[in-house]
Amino acid sequence: MADPFTGGCACGAIRYSITGTPVFANDCQCLDCQKESGTGHGSHLTFARDGVTVSGEVSFWAMTADSGNTKTRAFCPTCGAPVYMTFAAMPDLFTVRAASLDDPSRYRPQVVTYHSRAWAWDHLDRNLPAFDRMPPG
Ligand SMILES: [Zn+2]
Ligand SMILES: [Zn+2]
Repeated sequence: MADPFTGGCACGAIRYSITGTPVFANDCQCLDCQKESGTGHGSHLTFARDGVTVSGEVSFWAMTADSGNTKTRAFCPTCGAPVYMTFAAMPDLFTVRAASLDDPSRYRPQVVTYHSRAWAWDHLDRNLPAFDRMPPG
């Protein structure tokens, strides 16, 4: 069995541990990811929620995504680092930020999402399939 994926926020108050392997890994260029990251995209690993444990105090911001679904963004009240996201329409999923991992080299992006929102200065791996929104299905 693979090592759990462990990580947390920048100051260490929030910690998580996830067993299992990512079901999806994407660089997302949607406007929400831009605003929240302060740059051109967010990098995300999505897991099955039943393998997840989280410790520490978390602040939440529930917002309506581009897709119309409610997305809840979880961040640290002390350092402000975005750590994970959950989705009202997909309660079995748990998405963490690539750089919140203790070992971010484990992130292997599969696709670029919301490429239609990209800025010319935000260059991602040209070998990745890029979708205007989310991949179909
Ligand atoms: Zn923190
Ligand atoms: Zn996004």
